[in-house]
Amino acid sequence: MSETIFSKIAAGEIPADIIYEDELAVAFRDIDPKAPAHILVIPRQPITSLASADPADQALLGHCLQVCAKVAKQEGVEESGYRVVTNIGKDGGQSVFHLHFHVLGGRTLKWPPG
Ligand code: 5GP
Repeated sequence: MSETIFSKIAAGEIPADIIYEDELAVAFRDIDPKAPAHILVIPRQPITSLASADPADQALLGHCLQVCAKVAKQEGVEESGYRVVTNIGKDGGQSVFHLHFHVLGGRTLKWPPG
């Protein structure tokens, strides 16, 4: 997988508003927020998208989801509710090809998404 802006953020090579990090994952604020709380959770390991994760990544994927829940709590949206989304490929609207989970909250989100 080629280097992306997110792998550079994970490596500390370019700045981001990081709100949580551990040995496996990094969470930072989206540069163009779509909700009052909009956090991106990424694995440090460069995986292109959920579609290219393999069985060996199972624990890492679970960890990323737990980080999503952790940062939602940290952002104060646990009680009001929030959404966790991962976009895959062209029709999914993916624009950065390093797996990431959007954590969106702080307003009522519409369903279905556009
Ligand atoms: P995608 O469209 O791939 O699901 O989501 C990519 C997200 O990354 C978008 O919401 C976009 O605003 C965000 N983004 C793109 N470049 C940067 C950046 O350099 N820094 C941060 N913090 N977010 C970015």
